[in-house]
Amino acid sequence: MNKNSNKILIGVIAFLGVILVAVIVVFALTLKGVITKETFGIGSGKTEVSTEATPAPTAAPTEAPKKIVVLDAGHGKESGAMTDAEKEADGWLRTSRGWGEWRHWKSGTMWQDCEGSGCTGRAPSNGGCWYPIGNGDRDIEPEINLRNTEFARAYLEQMGYEVRMTRTSNDENPSMTKRLKACYKDGDITAEPDADVFVCIHSNAGGGRGSAYMALTGLYDQAGVFAPEEYVTESNLLGSLINNRITTETSMPLFAGGRYDGLPEAIFFCKSPIPIAYLEIGFFDNSADLEILNTESEAIGRAIAEGVNDYFAQK
Ligand SMILES: [Zn+2]
Repeated sequence: MNKNSNKILIGVIAFLGVILVAVIVVFALTLKGVITKETFGIGSGKTEVSTEATPAPTAAPTEAPKKIVVLDAGHGKESGAMTDAEKEADGWLRTSRGWGEWRHWKSGTMWQDCEGSGCTGRAPSNGGCWYPIGNGDRDIEPEINLRNTEFARAYLEQMGYEVRMTRTSNDENPSMTKRLKACYKDGDITAEPDADVFVCIHSNAGGGRGSAYMALTGLYDQAGVFAPEEYVTESNLLGSLINNRITTETSMPLFAGGRYDGLPEAIFFCKSPIPIAYLEIGFFDNSADLEILNTESEAIGRAIAEGVNDYFAQK
């Protein structure tokens, strides 16, 4: 071998040595996971891999507050069977006209009884500003209403609503004014109402068949959280959605096309601070309707809950 041959041989050995070291290094890094297919852009298919950790929330996530639904089982204990103490405890007033309550507030106010003046004087054709307690007495209706209401309560609570009941037994008969205190947290009427809707659950009588909501069509000039037009629109939407569920999901037929305009001066309409639905579910003095009320109460309660839920789904 000459000098040149030696130089070439040494060069080749050195070159092979460098290659060998490089292969060993890559192999070692691959074993440790430092080098992966992604390092060379092979096989991943991902164009972007975030390695940022999801930032930890600074506070526990706040759940949306539950919607509050007041359920009002219409009527209650027969007034003739109530003692004076019971009437007083249930919010009825004793005046020179006997026991009863005022139909509305003074115009533009809330919680100031008109006492026959300071209001527009609007009243049903057969009555005045005063509503005698005996006008609310109703045979078997209180029991029917409470049963439907209790089923509605169970379904609403299952759906995640907070429910307040204006009465929970048939041995009480709160005035309508007292029932409306359920719109307020702990009944504190000096605060803003915190309930979202008020649902009156009744059954009709006097000749007819089927279910309808009683529509708001009168003059409602109480102070409130809604402008009068919005109060009427929201209330009638709520009533129609509930009645739609009742007549499509139970055997109860429609009465009067589902909307009844017969009592625009109802006390609840004139005094409520929040949207209100008033359901007349069947005629309890009609045997076919009574049969449905007695056998499909749970389905009626569920339909009421679904109708309320339909209303909030539109908000
Ligand atoms: Zn009045």
